[in-house]
Formats: sequence, structure tokens, C-alpha cells
Amino acid sequence: MALMTGKQYIESLKKLDIKVYMFGERLENPVDHPIIRPSINSVAMTYDLAFDPEYEDLLTTTSHLTGEKINRFCHIHQSTEDLVKKIKMQRLLGQKTASCFQRCVGMDAFNSIYSTTFEMDEEYGTNYHERFKKYLELCQKNDWTVDGAMTDPKGDRGLSPSQQEDPDMFVHIKEVREDGIIVRGAKAHQTGSINSHEHLIMPTIAMTEADKDYAVSFAVPTDAKGVFMIYGRQSCDTRKLEEGADIDLGNNTYGGQEALVIFDDVFVPNERVFMCKEWKYAGMLVERFAGFHRQSYACKTGVGDVLIGAAAVAADYNGVPKASHIKDKIIEMQHLNETMWACSVACSAEGTKTKSGGYLIDLLLANVCKQNVTRFPYEIARLAEDIAGGLMVTMPSEKDLRGKETGPWVKKFLNGKVGTSTENRMRILRLIENLTLGTAAVGYRTESLHGAGSPQAQRIMIARQGNLEAKKEMARRIAHIDVSKDK
Ligand SMILES: Cc1cc2nc3c(=O)[nH]c(=O)nc-3n(C[C@H](O)[C@H](O)[C@H](O)COP(=O)(O)OP(=O)(O)OC[C@H]3O[C@@H](n4cnc5c(N)ncnc54)[C@H](O)[C@@H]3O)c2cc1C
Repeated sequence: MALMTGKQYIESLKKLDIKVYMFGERLENPVDHPIIRPSINSVAMTYDLAFDPEYEDLLTTTSHLTGEKINRFCHIHQSTEDLVKKIKMQRLLGQKTASCFQRCVGMDAFNSIYSTTFEMDEEYGTNYHERFKKYLELCQKNDWTVDGAMTDPKGDRGLSPSQQEDPDMFVHIKEVREDGIIVRGAKAHQTGSINSHEHLIMPTIAMTEADKDYAVSFAVPTDAKGVFMIYGRQSCDTRKLEEGADIDLGNNTYGGQEALVIFDDVFVPNERVFMCKEWKYAGMLVERFAGFHRQSYACKTGVGDVLIGAAAVAADYNGVPKASHIKDKIIEMQHLNETMWACSVACSAEGTKTKSGGYLIDLLLANVCKQNVTRFPYEIARLAEDIAGGLMVTMPSEKDLRGKETGPWVKKFLNGKVGTSTENRMRILRLIENLTLGTAAVGYRTESLHGAGSPQAQRIMIARQGNLEAKKEMARRIAHIDVSKDK
């Protein structure tokens, strides 16, 4: 079966024996848990749209390994057209879910490990690339969702992995056996990890020889022995446990998810190990994954489309859609959103073929794209809050709207433009709250800042990729500077 429907995906998750904790207790049925389920619905959308004739071309493609039709999330980009289709798919999914749909990290891990293992094998004569291809085929055949796991807890940020007092602060190889390795440590902030069939692990930073035990990449099933997860709570998450609070949720169907994933002495068989102490290549893997993932933040433009639409609808209910400053603020939101999009398109269109045959985005432009993403959603959110008005954070609950005594007062005083529905006004304001301050703000705001690396990580890459020396030379030539006259 190369393509699953959303329903089949959800059923497949139920077959896994995953170990998840929330609020200090192990969950018996994470798949149907009301706090978790919206995030599963978002991932399910990546499966359902593959069957929609309108979107099939974006959501599916042909495997270069088997020639079979596969979900694009399991694909190795074969051209710049593939890179552009990838981000169009991500914007679409952002529009459909107004949240993080979680499946991108795995796709970005596939693509970065694919090209890195090829180059690693060329230097060392190892066979990681062939191993990885076999693993990838398995992912494509089963249409798996895979958690791309890079970020370690990192402990003291001023120290390298091998300098940490607690060696578990970075995932590391505890033992090398004939048939595989034993790994230990944790990966933090893992998007969609509970909703994934597999975890694909990569090192988090470039390494030196002293850190070679930490230069490790491997894959394990989410329910492998020794793997367990602690759910990351989100602002307003317990609203999902309340009865009669659909409006209060803002988005009662979709959501994102992160968790702390712990590897407590996990055995990984050799066929699932894709880097084992080749510390020189940790940097390449990190740089490529970060590049692909910074391109992936095109998803935020899809969520931004929904937020811009919500702000415009709120202006309609407030009776001010024609006010010049409101129109201008909406134009500004669109300008910022499309600027992020333009960078994502640019880094895709300027992609190049790697030695492995897989395509890599333009790294400089991908980093510029993500640097914009660390800022613009905040400004878009500020403008949305401006247009929405204070009610988006002071509004009574849905129960008050339905309450016998409170209902008439809520309906009367929360009404906006004459002839419009108070309930609809409340709905759109709660959606804005959800996107800017609630559960979806994890994905729209803080993930925009830190996901795929904090802002400084992109600035380092921009400095590295920007070729300042060539620019200085251009300036010297135009100014007729003779450097031999300088002491
Ligand atoms: C919502 C969300 C989803 C995410 N999803 C994933 C995922 O699916 N997979 C994954 O692998 N990761 C994921 N991440 C992790 C993300 O890549 C990290 O948050 C990011 O790399 C920053 O790391 P950190 O959060 O540990 O912040 P920190 O490293 O603690 O950074 C905090 C600040 O300290 C600065 N700093 C850190 N180290 C140094 C240093 N050595 N010198 C100087 N300054 C330093 C940073 O620049 C930053 O300003 C996710 C993060 C978020 C918020």
C-alpha cells in the first residue's frame, strides 16, 4: 500500500504500542485523547488531500526508487520543480488546517540524510546511502509519517556535547555491537512525534573528533523498546477537555503538537544506522536539514492566509472594513506574508542537484527566508490583534453565550455590525486568539522564531553564504581602489 487515506493513517497509529505521558501519567489511548486528536487530524489532512483530484499533483509524485505513486512527504526532490511543489503543498496545508501539520520535518530529514550519506560513503567507502535508500523505500511503501529529530536538550549551551557534565544532554552512542548500536539521550521539541510511525534521528550541531560518539543518525519505530514521549503542553490546551467550548477553541478541529522524546538505551540494528561516529559529516547534515527546514516555513504563509482572512472578517463584523487604516493594515499583512513566500519560492527555484541526484535548495536564500519568518508573523499577529479589538481576549465563554441568564446580554453587547450574528463574531475573534495566543500560536509564533534554528543560526549561515569578499572586490573595482597602495 503506497498511499493511505487519513482514516487509514489514524487506524495505523492505533496499532502502535507507543508510550506517551501527559500531566505525569501514561496515556492509555493517545490517538483519541481530546488534547492530542486535533494534531492527528492535521496530519491526516496530508493523507486525505493525496486523494483529492484538485490537489493530487501537489500531494503525490512518483518515487525515483520504485516508480510507484507516493505521497510527496516521502519523496526525494528530483528537480527545482519538485522543490517548488513542496512549498506549494505546505502553503496549501497551512490554509487547510490553520496549524502545524507536522509531516515536514520527516520529509526534510529524508532529503538531507539522502544526499549526506551519499557523500559520506564516497569518502569513507561505507554503505550508509544504500541502507538509507532501503529504509526510505519502506517509508514510501508504508506511507509513514516520520518525525525528523534533530534538537537535543543541549544542557549548558556554552559547552560541546562531550564537555557536558551529563553525557545524555546530546543523543549519543553508548555501545557499538556487531549487529547494531545502543543509543541514549533525548530529542526536545519534537513536532508530531506522537503522531509519527517512525523517528529519524540526526545530530544537532557540527562536531569535532572529541564529539564523535554524538555523531549519529538512525531510525527507530515510535514504539521501539526504550523510546517514550512526554507531551508538551500548549497555552489554553485544557480548553479542549471542556464540554461546550467549541467556539472557545477557535479551531476545534486542527492543531499542532510537540513532545520531549526520550531514548533510554535503545537498540538500533545496523540496517537502520545512517551515521556512526563520522563526525566530519555532522555539520553537512545539520546544514542541509536546516536549509530544507528553513525553506519549509512556507507553511506559515498558509496559516498567515487564514489569519489575514480572519482579520478581514473581524473588520466586517466590527463594521469598519472600508476604513482606510484597516485596509492599509490588511495590505501590510499581505505584503509581509508574500515576502516570506517570495523567499521560499526563490530558494526553491534556485536549488541545485547534489552528487546523490537529490535537489538541494539555495542555502543563502533559505536562510533569508527563515530570518524573515522569525519576524513577520509577529507583525502580522500584531496587526490582526489591532483589527480584532480587545474583545478577542476579554470575551465571555461559549457557555455564557448559551447561558439562560447570560445569553441575552452576551448576544446584545457582543454584537457588532447591525444584522450580523454575535456568535459568528465570537467565532472569528476566537480564531484570531487561537492563532496569536492560543494553541496554534505555538506553531505560528514561537515555532516561527525557534523552529529550524533560532534567528542567530540563520545569521551565521547568511554570513557564511553571503560571499562578502566578492562584494568588497566589486566595490573596490568600481571605486578604482589599488590595494597595493594600502599598508
Ligand atoms: C514549536 C517548535 C517546534 C519544533 N520542532 C522541532 C522538530 O520537529 N524537530 C527538531 O529537531 N527540533 C524542533 N524544534 C527545535 C528548534 O530547532 C529549536 O527550538 C532551536 O534550534 C533552538 O534551540 P532551543 O530551543 O534549544 O533554544 P536555545 O538553544 O536554548 O536558544 C535560546 C537562545 O540562546 C542562544 N544560544 C543558544 N546556544 C548558544 C551558544 N552556544 N552561543 C550563543 N548563543 C546561544 C540562541 O541563539 C537563542 O537566542 C522545534 C522548536 C519549536 C519551538
